[in-house]
Amino acid sequence: MPETSRAKPLAFLLHWPWGIRGADRLSAAYIGKPMRDTIDPAARLAAFRAEIGDIPLTDDLQTRKAMSRDWSSVSPLLRKSLRGRIADAVAAPRNRTQIVTLIRAAVRTGMPLIARGGGTANYGQSVPLAGGVTIDFRHFSGIVAHDKTRVRALAGTNTDALDAELRAAGTELRIHPSTRHVSTLAGFIAGGSGGIGSIRWGLLRDRGNISAIKLLSIEETPREIELRGKDVLLAHHAYGTNGLIVEVEMPLEPAWEWRELVFAFPDFKAALDAGLRLGHEDALLLKVLSLQEWPIARLMPALGAVVPEGHTMISTMAAAQHRDEVVELAAEYGGRLVHDHAEGQGPYGEPLYRFCYGHSLMQVQKKDMKYTSVQTMFGGDDLRGQLLGLHPEFAGTMPFRLEFQKSQGKLVAVGSPLFLYESEAQMADVVRRVQASGAHVANSHTTSIRNVGMKTLTQADLDFTRAMDPHGLLNPGKVDLADETLATELDVSGWHFEEAQTR
Ligand SMILES: Cc1cc2nc3c(=O)[nH]c(=O)nc-3n(C[C@H](O)[C@H](O)[C@H](O)COP(=O)(O)OP(=O)(O)OC[C@H]3O[C@@H](n4cnc5c(N)ncnc54)[C@H](O)[C@@H]3O)c2cc1C
Repeated sequence: MPETSRAKPLAFLLHWPWGIRGADRLSAAYIGKPMRDTIDPAARLAAFRAEIGDIPLTDDLQTRKAMSRDWSSVSPLLRKSLRGRIADAVAAPRNRTQIVTLIRAAVRTGMPLIARGGGTANYGQSVPLAGGVTIDFRHFSGIVAHDKTRVRALAGTNTDALDAELRAAGTELRIHPSTRHVSTLAGFIAGGSGGIGSIRWGLLRDRGNISAIKLLSIEETPREIELRGKDVLLAHHAYGTNGLIVEVEMPLEPAWEWRELVFAFPDFKAALDAGLRLGHEDALLLKVLSLQEWPIARLMPALGAVVPEGHTMISTMAAAQHRDEVVELAAEYGGRLVHDHAEGQGPYGEPLYRFCYGHSLMQVQKKDMKYTSVQTMFGGDDLRGQLLGLHPEFAGTMPFRLEFQKSQGKLVAVGSPLFLYESEAQMADVVRRVQASGAHVANSHTTSIRNVGMKTLTQADLDFTRAMDPHGLLNPGKVDLADETLATELDVSGWHFEEAQTR
């Protein structure tokens, strides 16, 4: 793999035209609020079009509508609040030169830009909040370089296709989202948090899980910045607000043969104990570990029809050589094996991981769209005590879905009680009760980085955003909500990471 340029941590900030102090003159309020209220959108689009030559660009209404929605429609609140927010046009660049041309045109004409990959994100991440041109990155794809330890790929590379190619070479990504069949590599880095593989490797934000991110700044002559080490956190989970990602480098692991195993446990407590034990057994290679309390199995019959009435389900992907040990350990807690298939070969019609994480909610919404959840991370020194203490609050009314995973080296559980949405007040009450247990809740029903609360915005983040997007053109209103109609009443703590304040 060719050696890439190694930027010293934040060293590039010294090369801003105005230096760090000068940048501070731009107030924080400036981010996401370019001065273009007086501009006529049609005239602006005509001017933009005149700047970009033959780069594919359409203002067809159906295309604009389709490319202005994402999968955040799993949230009943976002389904409503993001309605009618539509891009002025959609561009589909094929190479880096075309991306640079689009950036230059945006700066010259004051056109907002919205980066978009597969459009599977939560929180309306790629929904334009103030119009503009959506850049469809899917045509900018392909592997740049890879060896047994690392892969570097273009931003719009589909994660499924990427992993298939890597597996053919005997390697695989450490972590991929449950939406991998649609999502892109840059979309995962800019919008995701972890997923399939996180039970072993932790969250994307854990040191070492993203090797490098290369971005272009939004300036008339875009600068190319390569982030490495802890600096990758600046662009990770930043919803495309601090530069356009052109390349990503990720660490690789040997490809394993995975078995999809589903167990039925007589009750929640037995399943929880089995899940905690499996999650702590670091010598067992697992790729996903998900617990779903009855009646969730009944709500997703393709997978759960074999689960007996009243039973809690544990779904796991285990390396084939550890299948027997996992079955043995589950049995010690009363777990009965009800599914046992090669990866992607189960009779439920899609990979097992598409019944876990956010996909679990999507599956039960096939029964009733009103099902919803609150995005919780349970952790701390007594995870078992915390969950067993909280469980009676919801038992019999709101069943739990939990994925066990690592975060900063510790076992945590992410998930939620599942419930039928009635009102924002009801949702706020669930948040309050869950947080009273000491758990941390993010707001998956709003759209700005700060309000979602999955990323702690430090001064370094704000400085970086100002440096990379000095004209505030990247989806204005996405860092801090400029439009209060998109706010919710949910009083969430946000997810907390010990390291977040030390950057
Ligand atoms: C049902 C469901 C299940 C999910 N499961 C998971 C999961 O297991 N793990 C997980 O982490 N996430 C998950 N997600 C969230 C999302 O699907 C993933 O993060 C996915 O990888 C996003 O990729 P995408 O290409 O679809 O990104 P998009 O939705 O297109 O974009 C996501 C964000 O990235 C930005 N972006 C895209 N391309 C670029 C670029 N080139 N430069 C700068 N910014 C860019 C966009 O502006 C947007 O803010 C889930 C969501 C849903 C609805």
